[in-house]
Amino acid sequence: MRLTLLGTQGWIPTGRRETTCLALESAGRLLIFDAGTGLRRMLEPPGSSMLAAARELHLFLTHYHLDHVCGLAYLPGIFAGRKLTVHVPEMGLNGVDPERGIAELIRNPYNPRAWGELPDVELATVHAGVNEVAGHAIRVRAQQHPDITVGYRVDDDFAFVTDTLADPETAVFAKAVAVLLHEAWYYGSADAAAARSGLPAATIAPHVAAERAAALAAAAGAGELWLIHLNPFFTEAYYTEMEQAAQTVFCGAAVRPDLYQHVFDRAAD
Ligand SMILES: [Zn+2]
Ligand SMILES: [Zn+2]
Repeated sequence: MRLTLLGTQGWIPTGRRETTCLALESAGRLLIFDAGTGLRRMLEPPGSSMLAAARELHLFLTHYHLDHVCGLAYLPGIFAGRKLTVHVPEMGLNGVDPERGIAELIRNPYNPRAWGELPDVELATVHAGVNEVAGHAIRVRAQQHPDITVGYRVDDDFAFVTDTLADPETAVFAKAVAVLLHEAWYYGSADAAAARSGLPAATIAPHVAAERAAALAAAAGAGELWLIHLNPFFTEAYYTEMEQAAQTVFCGAAVRPDLYQHVFDRAAD
């Protein structure tokens, strides 16, 4: 089972990093999490070979903010002729009718074809708790964000937690996972980060400081913490400082580049 980071930037893609997208290859199945601009990496290696090798394709969405769903516009190109199941939170999780959430994004005049006209895509929903999908136990929980998001946990291998406040329940959700992928927007104080980035404090505060994410990883007993959904108004040098700040709280904290790959050790299964 191999996880590839296709996009680790939040909000706005940069020259080095695309917006949120992960790909998990597992026994001939490809599970993609979020459809940020990183989804475009499926068109070139290593994404193109993952796609060619997969006999079953799944896409899971955390929420409908545009930086996480803009890749839906790429589906007819990237997955042409392939059956793709798109999994979104059921209405009980986020208050959004799943059909409406997607159909309002993919319709005229925003997209040349309506969602219902796309061949080979199928909509499915995930519910709170454990969902058995594609041979995996996929745990889902609602998270607080300006709109409700969901976190995903795949078996005991990884938890994907982005666009959320620092929530003590995340430590329970991610208990003993091999890798916690958690958003980190800044380190230190929000005011210092606002001053350094030039962003209004109001765009900093709804997100999580790296040290808080590190404390959650430590409380969860996670093997590693990867800081994701990185703030595009900071440099790679800042991310290194942020990584070091997180490591003072949890030594397994890291900032990984786009296209970083990790193979999960399934020997314990
Ligand atoms: Zn986001
Ligand atoms: Zn968001």
